Amino acid sequence: MSKILFVESDRRLAESVAEHIRDHLGVDSEIIDTLAAATDCFIQNKGDYLAVIINLALSTDNYAPFEKIPTIAVTGNLPTSSKKIVFASNVLDYVTDYTGYNLEYIIQLLKRGVFAKSAKMLIVDNEPVWLNLMRNLLSNKGYLVLEARSGEAARALLESDPDIRMMLIDGDICEKNNYDLIRGIRENRKKNQLSIIPFCRRGNDYQRITLLRSGASDCIEKPFKIEDFHVRIMNNLQLIEVLGELTELANRDFLTRLYNRRYFFEIGNKLYENFKRGALQLHLAMIDIDHLKNINDTYGHIAGDKVIKAVAEIIGKSLRASDVIARMGGEEFCVLCTDIKVDEVMSVFERLRESVAEKTILLDQGSIHYSISVGVTGNIGTSLEGMIHEADTLLYQAKKQGRNVVVVR
Ligand code: GH3
Ligand code: MG
Ligand code: MG
Repeated sequence: MSKILFVESDRRLAESVAEHIRDHLGVDSEIIDTLAAATDCFIQNKGDYLAVIINLALSTDNYAPFEKIPTIAVTGNLPTSSKKIVFASNVLDYVTDYTGYNLEYIIQLLKRGVFAKSAKMLIVDNEPVWLNLMRNLLSNKGYLVLEARSGEAARALLESDPDIRMMLIDGDICEKNNYDLIRGIRENRKKNQLSIIPFCRRGNDYQRITLLRSGASDCIEKPFKIEDFHVRIMNNLQLIEVLGELTELANRDFLTRLYNRRYFFEIGNKLYENFKRGALQLHLAMIDIDHLKNINDTYGHIAGDKVIKAVAEIIGKSLRASDVIARMGGEEFCVLCTDIKVDEVMSVFERLRESVAEKTILLDQGSIHYSISVGVTGNIGTSLEGMIHEADTLLYQAKKQGRNVVVVR
C-alpha cells in the first residue's frame, strides 16, 4: 500500500493532519517521530512511500533526507530564506506549519506533485544557457519540460500538444513581433487552459503592461529570486486548475455529470462545421427514457433520478471517448458520434439499448426495470439543429413502435 511518510514528533498534531490528508486524497500516512526511525522505515519499505512530510526541526542539517521521494518540508522557526530548502531537488515546497492555508497548501502540493500527472511546461527562449537554467529549475520540481527556440516553434508545439499547461517565454521574443504571438495563441487557448508567463526586464513597465494586456497570465521580472519563481509557477498552475474546475462545473449537468445542453451546442456546432467542411460522416442520436413518468409516479422522484443516472452511466460506458454525450434536459440525452462506421451504427445503439434493458435498480419496494428509445440520423443536412430535429422524428417513431426500440436512418 502506498502511503505518506510523515516525520513529526508531535503525534497528535500529525494525526490530525494525516486525517485531513486521508479525507482529501484518500491516502494514509505513517507517522514516525524521529529521523533515525524514519530512515529505518524508509530503507525497509522503500517502494511504499509516495511522499514525505518532514518537520525540519528533526533534520536541521539535511532538508531532504529521502532521495528522490517528493518531500514537503515544514520549517517551523527555521529561517526559510535558506536556499538549501528551495534548491533541494526533491522538495516540492516548504510550509512554516500546518495551520489554515498551509494545510490546504500541503494538499495542493501533494495533489500536484504526487497524484496528478506532472504538468507540462513549455520554455521559449533563443539563449541555450537560459533554456538550460529553466529546464533544471522546472524538471527538478517534477514538471515535464518542452523547449522552443522561437515564437513559431512554440506555436507549433502548442498546436500539436494540447496538454501543455504553461508557457514561460522571453518577453523580448514577444515584443519583436509586436506582441501578436500571445494574442494569436490566446485565440485558441484561453486563460483557463494555458498559463502564459513572459520574463521581462525589471523596470520595463511598458513591456510588462503590454504583455499583460496582450493576454499574458502573469509576468516575471528579471532578475528574480528562485523562490519567487517557484511560488509564481505554483500559483499560476493552481489558478488554471481552479478555472478549469469552474469551467467543468459550468459545462456539466449536476445529476449525471454529462455535458449540459448549452455546452453540447457549443462543441457540437464546432464539430458539425468541421465535419461538414471535410465531408465526413457524423451521426446524431436522441435517446429518451421510456415511461419515466410512470416510474416517478410508482416509485417516487428519487427513484426516477436513479434511473436517469443509471442510463447516463450506461451511455457513457457504451460509447467512445470521442463521442459527445449530453443530457439535453429531463430524461433526454443526445449523442454526437464522430467515428462510427455507417454499417456499425445500428449494432452500436442496439447494444446500448440492450444494456439498458438488462439492468435493474433495486429498491425496498422491488426492482425497477427501465428502457430507452433511440432515434439516430446520419443525414448531416444543413445544421446541427436540423440533425437534432431529424433524430427526434426517428425517436418519435421508435416510441410509436412500442418503445425499447432503435430507429436509424
Ligand atoms: P415516454 O416513454 O413517452 O418518453 O414517456 P415518459 O413518461 O418518459 O415521457 P413524458 O415526456 O410524458 O414525461 C417525462 C417524464 O420525465 C416526466 C418528468 O417528471 C420526468 N422527468 C424529467 N426530468 C426528470 C428528473 O430530473 N428527475 C426525475 N425523477 N424525473 C424527471
Ligand atoms: Mg422525453
Ligand atoms: Mg421519456
